[in-house]
Amino acid sequence: MRRVLAAGSSDVGQVREGNEDALLIRNSVFAVADGMGGHLAGEVASAAALEPIEALDGRVFPDATEAATALTNAVVAANTTVSKLATDNPLYRGMGTTLTAALIEGRRAHVAHVGDSRAYLLRDGQFSQLTDDHTLVQHLVDEGQITREEAAHHPQRSIITRAIGVSPEVDVDAMTLELQPGDQLLMCSDGLTGVVEDRVIAELLDTTADPDEAVSRLVELANQAGGPDNITVVLLRYEDPNAEVAAPRTISISTVNRDDGRDWAGQLGHYGALTAGSSSANGNNASDDEPRQVGRILGRATAVVASVAVLAALLIGGGQFLLSRSYFVALDDDQVVIYQGVDASIGPVTLARVTERSELVLADIPSWYHPNLENGRTAADLNDARRIVRDIPVRSDEVEDPGVAGDPDTDTDEPDDGSA
Ligand code: MG
Repeated sequence: MRRVLAAGSSDVGQVREGNEDALLIRNSVFAVADGMGGHLAGEVASAAALEPIEALDGRVFPDATEAATALTNAVVAANTTVSKLATDNPLYRGMGTTLTAALIEGRRAHVAHVGDSRAYLLRDGQFSQLTDDHTLVQHLVDEGQITREEAAHHPQRSIITRAIGVSPEVDVDAMTLELQPGDQLLMCSDGLTGVVEDRVIAELLDTTADPDEAVSRLVELANQAGGPDNITVVLLRYEDPNAEVAAPRTISISTVNRDDGRDWAGQLGHYGALTAGSSSANGNNASDDEPRQVGRILGRATAVVASVAVLAALLIGGGQFLLSRSYFVALDDDQVVIYQGVDASIGPVTLARVTERSELVLADIPSWYHPNLENGRTAADLNDARRIVRDIPVRSDEVEDPGVAGDPDTDTDEPDDGSA
């Protein structure tokens, strides 16, 4: 008798005030959601997105197609639910969430996915990312403009091109996997993958016998790496309890870019393959040469410009709303507002939208502070943006220029544009 063992954990991390991630572990359905929107909205979005998935728990399906369809429909229902909440309630405007969900049906795992949380499969020492990241930087990687390594540190890596709840309709990626004994299916938010390398994750899964221990070690690793974001991990192991326990292996990983147009099953082992054997397993790195060279030639500055062009193309071509974890405080005419998105535009296309307006206008603010608002001040999240707005000095008749001693930018939370 084979069985699926599940373990999971969600952790606030070291920096964030609240946890906007959510996870679901039931008998036959499992999911990770990473909510965005600041204040309580992100938490509302991720929790609401899990409800239609949870409703599938324990359902019996006549065949694989019906099971896969039910899972996809549940993700579409999650989008409708979150999108309606965001439309109906001004507090929730602009919120959204990623959603990566699995439905176990007999010996199959159906996976449905939107956003930049991930599902990975570890099978026979091969570690494969099953899902595509729906992010700007993944577009750039796919187009050969930057490498995966550059994407990991790209300034616009927080921009998501597809998410649950930001638009009335959503495209859902779906896949079905025939499980084999020993398979490990990992779902996680970017709080893990943003700071812990695939190779480290794979080695830990391969060498840790107890799923609960593997999950808590992964969370620990992300926290040790600074824990800049909420960390959520769900691990499924498909087991044959009678099978003998394999001895720990020496493993290495080689990451290659995958070909477009292949179905996901054909990509297994082709992408982020974890090769069992000696540490000199380096025979299959030829196929990634070309994109890397393109990335090097273009260089970082060009890549940033190119990314803005890709953003514009996405906005114009797809008409898709972008969901960004980025916020900044700047002016809309002479009013101080909080923007969500990137402080850039191409022609008529603005890559940010106003998410909150303050009551402050330029005339209320001493002139020495104006350059901060003209340049825009980057915030870590929506709450941070609100704090920046609260801390904006208000003009009084007595004090027009406090000079160096009264510089308000004594906060140390982020780099700030210097002001005259
Ligand atoms: Mg996250």
